[in-house]
Amino acid sequence: MNATTAAQAADIVAALLFIFSLAGLSQHRTSRAGVAYGIGGMALALVATVVAAAQDIPGSTVVLIAAATAVGGAVGLWRARRVEMTQMPELIAVLHSLVGLAAVLVGWNSYYEVEAHGAAQTRVAPDLLGIHHAEVFIGIFIGAVTFTGSIVAFLKLSARIKSRPLTLPGKNALNLGALVAFVALTVWFTVSPDLGLMIAVTVLALALGWHLVVSIGGGDMPVVVSMLNSYSGWAAAAAGFLLNNNLLIVTGALVGSSGAYLSYVMCRAMNRSFLSVIAGGFGAPAPSSGDVEQGEHRETSADETAELLENATSVIITPGYGMAVAQAQHPVAELTQALRRRGVQVRFGVHPVAGRLPGHMNVLLAEARVPYDVVLEMDEINDDFGDTTVVLVIGANDTVNPAAEEDPTSPIAGMPVLRVWEAENVVVFKRSMSSGYAGVQNPLFFRENSRMLFGDAKESVDAILRSLSTPEPGSAASRGLRTDQQPAPA
Ligand code: NDP
Repeated sequence: MNATTAAQAADIVAALLFIFSLAGLSQHRTSRAGVAYGIGGMALALVATVVAAAQDIPGSTVVLIAAATAVGGAVGLWRARRVEMTQMPELIAVLHSLVGLAAVLVGWNSYYEVEAHGAAQTRVAPDLLGIHHAEVFIGIFIGAVTFTGSIVAFLKLSARIKSRPLTLPGKNALNLGALVAFVALTVWFTVSPDLGLMIAVTVLALALGWHLVVSIGGGDMPVVVSMLNSYSGWAAAAAGFLLNNNLLIVTGALVGSSGAYLSYVMCRAMNRSFLSVIAGGFGAPAPSSGDVEQGEHRETSADETAELLENATSVIITPGYGMAVAQAQHPVAELTQALRRRGVQVRFGVHPVAGRLPGHMNVLLAEARVPYDVVLEMDEINDDFGDTTVVLVIGANDTVNPAAEEDPTSPIAGMPVLRVWEAENVVVFKRSMSSGYAGVQNPLFFRENSRMLFGDAKESVDAILRSLSTPEPGSAASRGLRTDQQPAPA
């Protein structure tokens, strides 16, 4: 078996490992194995690619490739070890942008390679040159859209720019016009390739990627992240055609199609139109309320909340992004235990997009060892709020916003939410009256049965624990300790 055949065999094994990886990642139980398959497949793919290429390139280039791999691997390892759970979606957005940039560079490189050698001596058969030109154009287009789209997603997710949608006049016509221009430029370039057209398609796609994501509201960002994941897959597949690399084509198609399917599933769960999201919020209503307050809000204190909880028969806790920021999951778990010991029924209602990544709240609650059987999904608990004495909204905002159900002009109209306002009492833990990630003010805060408990969520829950009237012997509260001075509850 020569090096080329061995590399081809390794490609097939790597592709199978990627398929096993996707299958493993679809369930909690098998997700660790899924990650291991993915790492194995990628390591094998890298080695096979370099071994196959080593026959045609000088040794010094192989050394350069190995050095670049080592540097890239080290940076990846460093970032992965340092990244906070709340920063995961922004990291993913940055990684997608790199895939997009790589596809743009491969396209430009491929154009220059063919230009430099002249049509007669190129490795592309002369009668296939037109197809090659189209591949170059499509690869650059998808790559550039992914590149700027992912950068805007990164800026929005990391709160460097506002998450509210930008609504340019005639934005749908602009998007459609850009697509029509791309098709026309592709036909022109296929017939008569030219540097000016290369620059035109790159600029057009960079602008379109920026506009598509900048026009999408915060509430739709989870879908956008998975959509960009899909685009990055198609960008990689396009680069695979240009590089004649079958494994890249297969891997790109796997990422592209699984990302598109995930976006579709998320759109259905969030009651959003798939087409609307991929077309940059096509038909989405104009942003409304923002941070404008909608009446009087009432404040409460940790002592009052502790008293309310002690007299409650049933409590539902709806955690959100603020719980992750405050790292309040440990005191929340201790509060749950303390109330359960007092005979209060305590359950959690978890919204599918609470936090900043799918399953974010479940991971935090599992880390704090909250029993699985009291952690319920939105659909499992939404009909029970009416029979609940107290709901604690801990750092959640968009996912408990009644405007989604009651205000058809709201940017989050139609998004399913936790119906916390149906409970007898609602206590909202947050630091200010500012809006949630979608940039929409929340009428919940101004309802008769709502009270605001201002402050960092962890400090507020710690204060409630200290206020509970009969602290249990040996508990953190009985010794006046903060919960971060205690081991996680068992
Ligand atoms: P939101 O992001 O809507 O709101 C979080 C709230 O937490 C804010 O109002 C903030 O208010 C409060 N907060 C922040 N820090 C603290 C703190 N230290 N202590 C107390 N409160 C704090 O949260 P949700 O979880 O309800 O909604 C998630 C949003 O993120 C949705 O719009 C979703 O679409 C979007 N999203 C979700 C992703 C996912 O995959 N899950 C990915 C990307 C976006 P204040 O500043 O006043 O304290």
